[in-house]
Amino acid sequence: MPTYRAPRGTRDLLPEARSGFSRLEGIARSLSARYGYREMEIPLFEQTAVFERGIGAATDVVEKELFRIAPRTDDSEAWALRPEATAGVVRAYVQHGMQTLPQPVKLSVVGPMFRYDRPQAGRYRQFWQWDVEAIGDPGPAVDAEIVELGWRFYAEAGVKGVQTLINSIGDAECRPAYLETLKAYFAVHAADLPALERRRLETNPLRLLDSKDPAMTDLIFGAPKITDCLCGACSVHFESVKAHLEAVGVPYRIQPTLVRGLDYYTRTAFEFYRSGAEGQQQALGGGGRYDGLVELLGGRPTAGIGFALGLDRVLLALEEGGTKPVAELPPLAVVVGADPADTVSRLRVASQLRIAGLAVRAELGQRKLARQLETAAKEHAHFAVIIGDELAEGHVQLKDLEAGTQHVVPLADLARELARAATSHHHG
Ligand code: AMP
Repeated sequence: MPTYRAPRGTRDLLPEARSGFSRLEGIARSLSARYGYREMEIPLFEQTAVFERGIGAATDVVEKELFRIAPRTDDSEAWALRPEATAGVVRAYVQHGMQTLPQPVKLSVVGPMFRYDRPQAGRYRQFWQWDVEAIGDPGPAVDAEIVELGWRFYAEAGVKGVQTLINSIGDAECRPAYLETLKAYFAVHAADLPALERRRLETNPLRLLDSKDPAMTDLIFGAPKITDCLCGACSVHFESVKAHLEAVGVPYRIQPTLVRGLDYYTRTAFEFYRSGAEGQQQALGGGGRYDGLVELLGGRPTAGIGFALGLDRVLLALEEGGTKPVAELPPLAVVVGADPADTVSRLRVASQLRIAGLAVRAELGQRKLARQLETAAKEHAHFAVIIGDELAEGHVQLKDLEAGTQHVVPLADLARELARAATSHHHG
C-alpha cells in the first residue's frame, strides 16, 4: 500500500479517462455554443451562505454533504466548496448586474463539484458536471429548450436508452396547499415512517417523495400527486412545456413523484435516467425551474431554469455499454540521432517542428540509434527524423517507419514535408 493515496471518494483521471472527459466536455461546449449558452467560470468555493440560502439549509446537499472550509482566523468568512453550480452562477448574475442585459442570460459551466457523500459506484466526493442556466425567462418554451439540450447531449455522447422524466412541482400559489395535503397524508402514517423521513415531514415534506427507503415505496405510490393539485397557471405552463418537447421530438415520461431535493425549484422539474435505472439514486442528470432563487440571493425577482449533467456517470454508462475510450494518436515523428550524446540537436530539431504545429517526440535518452528506432517503431510513430553527419550541411534523414523508405531532407523543408504527410495520413 502506498503511503499517500487520493482522498476517499476522489479519483485521479489518468490520461485515458481524462481524454474521455475531454471528449464529453467538447460535446458539452459545442452544444452550449449551438444553443447559445455562453461558458463562464465561478469559484470552486463560495461563502457558505450562498449555498445555505440558495440551496436550502434543510437539504442533504447542505445539511450533510457540504465540504466546509475550516476558517483560518476567528473573523474570516465561512466558505464551502461548491456542491453544484446553480447557486454560484445566480450569485454571479446578481453581483455583475446581469439583470440589465437582454434576458434571458444563458450561461454554462463545466467543472468539478464537491459533496461529502458516502462514496460508492457513480457517487464521488469530487465529480464533474456540465451545468446550464437560462436566467430571466419564465418559460415555458425555454424549459423545453433546456430539456432538449440535455437530451441531445446524451445522444451526441452515445449513451443509449436515456429516459427523460418530467414533472411540475407547482409554485408559491399552489404548492403550499399541496404540501399541507401531503403532510396530512404522511402524518396518518407517521408511526410507520423511518426516523429520517419522520424528521423530513417537518422540515421538507416534499423530500418524502424522493425517499429511496424501500419502506417508503408503497406509501409514496399512494401519496397525493402534485400534478392533480396544480393551479391554473402552473397547469397551463406544464401543458405548454410538454407541447414544446413534442415539437422538438424529445420523448418524455411524466413522473409525479419527481421533486428535486432543492428548495428553490418551481414548476418544471426533470431528470435523465438510463432505462431500467429509474428507481436507483443514479440519475445521469437533472434540473428544473427556480423562479425564487435570484430574489433569495439578493436580486430582483427573476425567473430561471437550468440543469446539471454528471459527466462521471455518463462516462460510466458509456463504459458499461461497451464504448471503448478514444484511442490516443501516436506521435507523427520521433527525432533520433546517430550520436547518442547529442541531445542538443535532437531537442532543437524537435522544438522547431513543434513550433510548426506538429506532434513529435524527441529521443532524449542516450541510447544507440538502433534502440532509439526500435522504440519509435514500437510506439507506432509514422516517421523517424534521423540526425547524423548531414546536419553540418543542414540536412537530416527522414525515415518512413511504415513504408521502410528513407531519404535526405533539408532541415528548412522538414516541417512542410511532415505536415503534408500528416494531412494525407490523418496523423496528429
Ligand atoms: P443533482 O444536483 O444532485 O441533481 O446532481 C446532478 C447530477 O450530477 C446527477 O444527476 C449526477 O449525474 C451528478 N452527481 C450528483 N452527485 C454526484 C456524485 N456524488 N458523484 C457523481 N455524480 C454526481
